[in-house]
Amino acid sequence: MAVPAGSATASPTPVPSVTPNPSPSPSARPGRPGQTKPGLLPPVVNHGPRTGNLVALTFDADMTDSMLAQLKNGRVKSYANVRIIEMLEHDKIPATFFLTGKWVQRYPALTERLAGNPRFELANHTYGHQAFTADCYTLPRIPPAAMTEDVAKTFKIIERYGGRQTRYFRFPGLCHDRAALRAMSSLGLTVVDGDVVSGDPFATDWRPIVNAVLKKVKPGSVIILHVTEANAQFTDEALPHILKGLAERGLEPATLSEVLAG
Ligand SMILES: [Zn+2]
Repeated sequence: MAVPAGSATASPTPVPSVTPNPSPSPSARPGRPGQTKPGLLPPVVNHGPRTGNLVALTFDADMTDSMLAQLKNGRVKSYANVRIIEMLEHDKIPATFFLTGKWVQRYPALTERLAGNPRFELANHTYGHQAFTADCYTLPRIPPAAMTEDVAKTFKIIERYGGRQTRYFRFPGLCHDRAALRAMSSLGLTVVDGDVVSGDPFATDWRPIVNAVLKKVKPGSVIILHVTEANAQFTDEALPHILKGLAERGLEPATLSEVLAG
């Protein structure tokens, strides 16, 4: 239930009743003049209800200008881990993909393949994976005035592929502050962080990824992984072990909509 309509004209995903982001937000302080009303900021979720046995596997598809340059000069072969997609397809595992607009434009056939799978949901990870706060790893910063259009444009790019569209959105590096959230307020989206950071982009082996996930995962968890191949080289090796560990714990992968709805 509570699965977003599978069309390009899907209405915004209903706000799930989940624990809001515990990070302090000045918007929670009432009555300060000149402040945006709390209701105008989009909801931020880390996980679904802790009841039941569902967990969400989410895969980010980052793409920056410097990554595109690496592909162009041949130093990197691929930022798309097809083995992950094949595994999920073969085992009929539901998953949610947070796509950057630039990844979609670089890999249109793969995007079509993702959209064509009824078990996969599509979500938004910005156009070019720029930083939406002043200090977000080493990512170059997007001008604040360009934030809203960047994310709106990315929804439009993804919508053309149909399939299970959502209004879920994830900030690059999970970096957001009140200004970034306010820039999203007109887009009818839900910001999805996650409560299980696998650390796969920095891993030098599959084992730490598996350990990081299985140590933290519980019912309702949103697990953050990457489908970016060269930037997350061991995710496909880790995946079967993660799936096995989830099964041993009685946890079942489901789409983000299903997990957030409980
Ligand atoms: Zn990312």
